[in-house]
This record gives sequence, C-alpha cells and structure tokens, in this order.
Amino acid sequence: MAHRVLVSDDLSPEAVRILRDAGLEVDVKVGLKAEELAEIVAGYDALAVRSATKVTAKLLERASRLKVVGRAGVGVDNVDLEAATRRGVVVMNTPGGSSVTVAELALAMILALSRHVAAATASVRAGKWEKKRFQGRELAGKTLGVVGIGNIGSVLVERAAAMKMRVIAYDPFIGPDAAAKLGARLADLDTVWRESDVVSVHVPLTDQTRHLVNAQTLARMKKGALLVNCARGGIVDERALAEALASGHLGGAALDVFEKEPPPADHPLFAQENFVCTPHIGASTEEAQSAVAVAVAEQLALFLTRGEVRNAVNVPSLPRDVLDQLGPWLPLAEKLGSLAAQLGPAGPREVAVAVAGDLGAVPLRPLSARVLVGLLRDALDTPVNEVSAPAAARDRGLTVREERSNEPHDYASLLTVTLRGQGGEVTVAGTVYGKREARIVRVDGFRVEAVPEGDVILCENDDAPGVVGNLGTALGAAGVNIARISLSRLEDRSRAFAFLNVDSAPSQAILDRVRALPHVRSVRAIKL
Ligand code: NAD
Repeated sequence: MAHRVLVSDDLSPEAVRILRDAGLEVDVKVGLKAEELAEIVAGYDALAVRSATKVTAKLLERASRLKVVGRAGVGVDNVDLEAATRRGVVVMNTPGGSSVTVAELALAMILALSRHVAAATASVRAGKWEKKRFQGRELAGKTLGVVGIGNIGSVLVERAAAMKMRVIAYDPFIGPDAAAKLGARLADLDTVWRESDVVSVHVPLTDQTRHLVNAQTLARMKKGALLVNCARGGIVDERALAEALASGHLGGAALDVFEKEPPPADHPLFAQENFVCTPHIGASTEEAQSAVAVAVAEQLALFLTRGEVRNAVNVPSLPRDVLDQLGPWLPLAEKLGSLAAQLGPAGPREVAVAVAGDLGAVPLRPLSARVLVGLLRDALDTPVNEVSAPAAARDRGLTVREERSNEPHDYASLLTVTLRGQGGEVTVAGTVYGKREARIVRVDGFRVEAVPEGDVILCENDDAPGVVGNLGTALGAAGVNIARISLSRLEDRSRAFAFLNVDSAPSQAILDRVRALPHVRSVRAIKL
C-alpha cells in the first residue's frame, strides 16, 4: 500500500508534485481546525507542515500510523517534540533552505552601506541634491571578514568573491580545507577585526557569541569599516555600536535583527548617520519559502521510500539492549565532545573516539555520534543530534575515527576523545564508576578525577606552594563558590593543573584576576 501524506499547511504545487512523483498518495487540506485534523490524522504516514499546524501530544495520540512530521522551515515550536519522540515519530526541519536569501540580504546591506543608499534616498525625497555628501566606496579589492561560515556565511563568501573582494573568515569549528574550498582564508578573530573593511556576522546566538561585537571589538576595527548583522539580535552590543557610529570610528552599520524586536522608537541607533535596518526579513523571499517546501517534500519522499533520515530534529531512541549497554556512557561521550571542542584546536580536521577495557565490545557508532553532538552542539544554529551530527561533521571537513584500543590504563573501561586540527590536538578521557558515576579522568597530559557538569574553571600553573590557596581566595573574594576541585601535576612536576567545578560562571574580570596570580600560566572557563 502506498504511503499517505497529509499536507496541512500551504506548501507549493512543486512540493506536492515531488511527493506524488515519489509514488506517495498525497492529500492537501490546508486550514483544518484542530478537531478536524484529529479526525483524519490516523489515516496518514506523514504530515507536511509549516508553522500553522499545531502538532500537539493530543493530535499525536490519534496519529496511530504517523511515522514522520516534516516542517518546511527551521523552528519547530509548533511540534511537541517530546511527544513525537516518545511515539517514535521522526520530526524533520529544513535548515539551509533560506541560506541564499539571507546571504543576499547581507550583501544588499553591504552595498547599501557602501553607497549610502538609504540616507541618499531620504535626502533626495526631502528635495536635496547632495552629491558630495554621499560619495561612496567600491567593494572591489576590499577585505570582507565573515564570522561564521555555516550555511549562510558560506554563501556570502562565494558571492563576495564575485564582487572581487578578498575574504577572510573566522569559524573555529571549520577545517581550513573546507574553508579554502569556499574561497575564504581562515583567520583568527583578532585578524578579522583588524584587517576587514566590512565584517558580516553569521553565527548562532550562544554564550560565546552574545555581544561578540562589543565596544572592545568595535575599537579594533579599521576606521570607517562597516558592520552587518543578519544573524541574531544579541550578537551585537547595540549601545556600543551606536557609540562607534556616533564617534565616526565606524563608517556604517546594518542590522536585520535586534536585541529586542521590534526595537524601541528611541533606539540610539536610529539617530546615527549611515545606519540601515530591516525588520528581521532575512529569510523572507518567495524563493526561500518555496525552497523550504521543496526541501521538506524531498526529505519526506526519501524517508518514506528509502528510510533515509535527513535533518531530523528528534532522534528515535536506540534499541533497548544498546541503551542498556551504553547507559551513562552516552551523556559522558557528549560531555567529552563538548570539552574537546571548548579546549580544542581551531580548524579541527579529525576526531578519534577510542574505547578500551570492558567497553571494548560495545557498538561504537552511537558513542562517536554522541561525541560529535557534544563537539558541534554549541557551533550550529539548528539543534544537532545523533542522526544529524555525522553528516554535519562531514560537511565541515571533520573526519571521525573509531578505535578499540588495547593500550594499558587504570580503569575498568575508558572512553578517549582526541580532537586534531590546524592548531594541534587535545585529548580528553572519561570513565564511569559503578553504574552511573561519570568522571573525566584525563585532560591532555593531566590525570584528574572530575565531575563533568556545569561551570568549570581550568587552571594551569607552576607546581609551587600556595597556588591553590590563592586561587580559592581570589574566587571566594569574587563570590564564586568552588563545589569540587581536582588537582593534578605532570610526573616531572614541570606543570600542575586544577579542574574546578564552580557554582556560577566566572566573569571575564574574575578570570583576568586569577590569571594575574603568581605562578598561574593559563586559566579558562568552560561549561559542560
Ligand atoms: P549554521 O549553523 O549553518 O552556521 C553557523 C556557523 O557559525 C557554523 O559554521 C559554526 O561553526 C559557526 N560558529 C559557531 N560559533 C561560533 C563562534 N563563536 N565564532 C565563529 N563562528 C562560530 O547557521 P546558519 O544557517 O548559517 O545561520 C547563521 C545565523 O543566521 C544564525 O544566527 C541564524 O539564526 C541566522 N538566521 C537569520 C535569519 C534572518 O531572518 N535574519 C534567517 C535564518 C537564519
């Protein structure tokens, strides 16, 4: 019997044709009331929606035959993911469907700023003819700095090359080969600020990227440089941006997104010369709307006809026996991946996942997939899971090696993750005591016994008396409570290391104070 698909939001005729051409039976019923949908949902294997249809737990209870929900678009707030996962229903979205559209807006912003399009329009409309005031600049030969070269940033890189711009990019989660293929040279963030004539940000909003563009980073930018944010509000400190424009340091800025949307009418940026903005319309083009419909149709067809899962945002759970075997190792694998990513070298190329001891016989794929989730989860805009992480890793030029290791070690079982990249490598390892007590037991050359949870401060120091006392005093004075501490030193006592679990994230100022203590070599804060 052919699989049946219900299209319950307006997709596009082309999307419907793709589903039918795949041999699926398709009904298009747009605008059904919740009860009407509940009446008929039991007859379908797949639901294709945008954001209007609410796929609630109640609806899913009635959907006895449903295997998959496809959302044309990125956000899946209209789908009860937990209920879907419980019932084994795969939920897919279509990240990347609007990448060209958003990248084109960024390019439009860059061009508009370079030629004062908005202010010149207002001036002509006001009856003026200010040719001198609106003298602009060419893009050809200038340097574009792209921060984040994922789906959208990478399209902008290609477009900028056609404008004859030189492109440098900062993205710590992308290998140099993958970047070079796009036509960008990877650079560190400081170089991007200092060398770019235009900076465009295309990163997700995370703890690391909040106020990535702030007073200090703006000050490092070239005088007269331009800044564009078509990513997320909050990445740019808008007050600092307004000041940088007011002082004349920055030549122009464009925002499609704001910290608060809509922004207040008296927003300080509105008073600035050469500030351009749009009301979060980055993804709003006919083509993007149609592209996500086509993408969801193709994904549903692949899933129903060949069982291939693409862009799943939830994960069907692993078979019971695998779960029983792996239990606490799965979350530990994710923590080790995240720890490696936070410590790891820029431009990662390879991750090696090795098991040893009693773990020797377990299936490696679920473990390495969870390591990849930890590695990538803070890097990407869409949620990554065990299904999507391996493909996302491949896309960014990261290869995965799975190994069963016979090397001697002191633990009943050991999971080791090594991340290798352009800037060197980092190795971390963990074990599980009893049935559930996960511990990190190695951070590079240091042996520790640390709980992989919450806010952590990592401190490397000379092996000298008094360092730990000073550390405790400095953190205590700053109101940061130490929950646990694990100390370690190299055998030759050339260096020592402390892994501190703390009750709250330390501010940059606190970290600077700790770094200034005698014998401290480096200090960093991470979150597990
Ligand atoms: P993506 O996940 O494909 O790419 C994000 C990239 O940022 C990745 O390559 C990642 O490695 C990199 N990254 C993560 N943290 C970083 C950091 N601290 N420094 C440098 N690079 C970092 O996401 P995408 O689809 O390209 O989306 C990019 C942004 O655009 C997101 O914020 C997304 O929400 C936003 N967006 C805006 C609109 C709009 O309407 N304006 C529409 C769609 C997407």
